[in-house]
Amino acid sequence: QWQRGYMFAPLVFRLHAGTPSVVRKVLLEQGWEEYDEEMHKEDDWNLYWRVSAFHNSDYQNLKPWQRLNHHPKVVGITRKDSLARNLRRMKGAFGSALYNFSPVAFILPNDYTRFLEAYTVHHLANGGRATYWICKPVDLSRGRGIFVFRDIKDLVYDSPVVVQKYISNPLLISGYKFDLRIYVCVKSFCPLIIYIHQEGLVRFATEKFSLTSLDNVFAHLTNTSINKFGPRYSTDKEHVGQGCKWTLNKFRCFLRSQNSNELLLWQQINNIVTLTLLAATPSAPFSPNCVELLGFDVLIDENFKPWLLEVNYSPALSLDCPADNTVKKALIHDLIDLMNYSQMDGLRQRGYLTKRFINLCYSQALQTKTSPVYLIPKHTPGFTRQKRSHSQPRSSFEKNEDKLVQSGGLCYSETCQRTLLASCAQEPLYCPQSRHLMPKSKNRCVSNLEGHKTVNMCKLPSIHKYQRQIITWVETQDVSVPPCRVGDFILTFPFNDATLKASQENLDVKIAFQELHRLNNHLAAFCNLKDERRKECVRRSWAGKFESVFWGPRNPPLLKDCFLLS
Ligand code: ADP
Repeated sequence: QWQRGYMFAPLVFRLHAGTPSVVRKVLLEQGWEEYDEEMHKEDDWNLYWRVSAFHNSDYQNLKPWQRLNHHPKVVGITRKDSLARNLRRMKGAFGSALYNFSPVAFILPNDYTRFLEAYTVHHLANGGRATYWICKPVDLSRGRGIFVFRDIKDLVYDSPVVVQKYISNPLLISGYKFDLRIYVCVKSFCPLIIYIHQEGLVRFATEKFSLTSLDNVFAHLTNTSINKFGPRYSTDKEHVGQGCKWTLNKFRCFLRSQNSNELLLWQQINNIVTLTLLAATPSAPFSPNCVELLGFDVLIDENFKPWLLEVNYSPALSLDCPADNTVKKALIHDLIDLMNYSQMDGLRQRGYLTKRFINLCYSQALQTKTSPVYLIPKHTPGFTRQKRSHSQPRSSFEKNEDKLVQSGGLCYSETCQRTLLASCAQEPLYCPQSRHLMPKSKNRCVSNLEGHKTVNMCKLPSIHKYQRQIITWVETQDVSVPPCRVGDFILTFPFNDATLKASQENLDVKIAFQELHRLNNHLAAFCNLKDERRKECVRRSWAGKFESVFWGPRNPPLLKDCFLLS
């Protein structure tokens, strides 16, 4: 009997060997319990975290209360060769103007002839001025095996490599090269839901940039794993300081001091993230119980153009310096918040659920191979968002259960939550078996810009405070709305009515492109418009029901308001 509120068990996390300690730290801080083989049954956990990829069977055997920190098939953008191949495909299909954010790349040995042609063309076109190339082994990371070259006779490799045009005019800070590590969370590929974190890292080379010393890795590579062994790592470097990292926030101050057009830069980076993920979306299966944290490496050149260097699977979460401490712990806190666990997820299979609810979860899990149970109640209260293939027959059991919610299919958290929470409200959250109190109930930093209807189901504590924007939200019956901000994670896709609609079922990529294009044009137009009345017109023409926040600037404004700022 669950009615009296004493049946909640703590949420349980399971860590694979090699998981960075900050993940354990954050989960324990949030009141979770660590999985212990002796104490817990095989599937008695809510989150399984591992640095490397899961096996197919891990996805197939997933229970409704369980989630994984990786989506299946993300490798299409996280391996250097796959990324190059996918972006080339997108360039071919949708035009190189749209996908001009990644340096030209060749996968060798297969593309050797094409590389040779490009090498020759560049050589001649530049009238003797050198073009530089960078060679990277496809399956290594942390700068291992990378070198920069000018003359093709220096290109030597003994395993598959990507040879990429070297950005030889990087923006420098006091003569030092740097790149940005942008943290992106793909909440779901289907529908595509992307969040970008406000905080990130700036990673510096520790010796001054110079094209006369191509073999100096401390001047040309910005990997921390390399630079922390550089002779000048601990030196107090002009403006850069000691070490080799800044927070993104510090970089914002730098941008302001340069009077650069910050908004355009953030928007371009935002475009890079969305367009890259659009390349991965078609191959990603529907996997609602998964989340993915990716690290996008972006280099800015002296013309303020951002370039995508690579997308990192399981970006490094080790805490090596003060900037890491500031950024990574808060990042994981926000990521866990974004997963929006509820107390109901703590029920698992422990027998606290009535048979009816267990049946509900199992029937969903077993019957709907192509439409697994949607666990995350990220939608507007009153709406459900389970995917169901139309060909699938609905059991009478399911039909009856549907009456519990207002429309569509069922989802574990929501159904349980709605029904159970009504009974359990106000009760102390105590689990006699584990003698654990659940985390204290606090309002979460989840804002879905639906005016007074803020999602507030999860009881995990909030980490970052920010001013919630209260605006009017007109409900639509057929669309569910992801929160526009969770902690410092900003929803960047979908970002307006049209992209929200386009992302619901099979993503309409063309509409996504069109809307991105429209947004970019609006921003660019605003930068050039002097007349206030015309600015007002542009702003009004952007207005829609679905408001979103503009990722990037310090206190991120509503998208429509950033037209005012630009
Ligand atoms: P890894 O996975 O080994 O870190 P990256 O592609 O991120 O490989 O490259 C490592 C570093 O090399 C980057 O952080 C950047 O400093 C530099 N780099 C990589 N590609 C380029 C490029 N095309 N132009 C300029 N610098 C580059």
